[in-house]
Amino acid sequence: MANLLVTGGAGFIGGNFVHYWSEAHPGDSIVVLDALTYAGNRSTLEGAERTRLVEGDIRETDLVTRLLREHDIATIVHFAAESHVDRSITGPDAFIDTNILGTNSLLKAARAVWLAGGGREHRFHHISTDEVYGSLGPEDPAFSETTAYAPNSPYSASKAASDHLVRAYHHTYGLNVTTSNCSNNYGPYQYPEKLIPLFLLNALSGKPLPIYGDGMNVRDWLHVEDHCRGIEACLERGEPGETYNIGGGAELPNLEVIEAICREVDRAFEEVEGLAERYPDAPAAAGQPSASLKTFVEDRAGHDRRYAIDETKARSALAYEPRHDFDEGLRQTLRWYLANEDWWRPLSGQTGI
Ligand code: NAD
Repeated sequence: MANLLVTGGAGFIGGNFVHYWSEAHPGDSIVVLDALTYAGNRSTLEGAERTRLVEGDIRETDLVTRLLREHDIATIVHFAAESHVDRSITGPDAFIDTNILGTNSLLKAARAVWLAGGGREHRFHHISTDEVYGSLGPEDPAFSETTAYAPNSPYSASKAASDHLVRAYHHTYGLNVTTSNCSNNYGPYQYPEKLIPLFLLNALSGKPLPIYGDGMNVRDWLHVEDHCRGIEACLERGEPGETYNIGGGAELPNLEVIEAICREVDRAFEEVEGLAERYPDAPAAAGQPSASLKTFVEDRAGHDRRYAIDETKARSALAYEPRHDFDEGLRQTLRWYLANEDWWRPLSGQTGI
């Protein structure tokens, strides 16, 4: 039996992790610490067993210290972050505050509680991103754990800074840390400002599908359940002080992803009864292709061209292997959004979907 503190557990990946962990580890209890920003959602945690949500900010070191002590917590899985690149371009401050100062606050609390009086067994696992490595050309080798950091957006710079702090607490104080750098996640419970849910829901409501630049920016797509399995492998088999890249093995240009989304939406209208009545504004409701909504828009400032993950280390050291095929994972994700309109419809006022 163990007690975990999951920061940002009411967000997309953290919420999926809480469901995954509570099902896979029925003896464990989870405390979620989440500030419930626009990206956090209480309803994401509905049905998660032995899970308690504490609404609070990771920058409140006293609160974190109290939670670690009161719940006898020896594992922190740290997801909480400002996570959307576009928002970091228009307003970087929140990214510095949460991603850098917030991570330092957690590390301080963990050090104070776990290393005091001779110390105890513990683990601080930090979730980071492949974006800290910068941008690749078409022929460059994929990012490995030894690729030099070269973050290009305020978001990735703030994540890079937090990675360095985690590393420094290991080397300076001996905190038992691991870090994973993952690629673009997709799956259930993703806030519909990110590419896949935004385009799925826009296609259902007949809104344009805005494609940045020429649509040829390449990302590696990781199903969130595979990511959760990768984090579990880091917690169970990761070595203190090590970092692990976790990818989905699906490197695709945005245009191909968008075409796959359109195909899946068109297919759903053929296969699922009643969709034309539920979503009368979708082109697919009138037998038209969803791809007719594609609209090219001005590129994102400083848009990284390509990310690719070399996950050899995670495969060999952790026995990590992604299980989801992209097309199957995308179909499953679309079907989840169709079956869970109660989850995303209340967000439509915030996102314009
Ligand atoms: P998200 O934006 O969906 O969720 C973030 C969560 O953190 C929200 O619930 C929010 O309320 C909470 N939060 C924000 N500021 C907080 C604060 N100061 N105190 C407490 N809680 C706070 O993000 P996500 O997509 O689930 O990403 C989770 C982690 O994974 C992040 O660290 C992100 O950098 C990393 N990551 C995400 C992706 C991806 O594709 N989504 C890819 C690589 C890495």
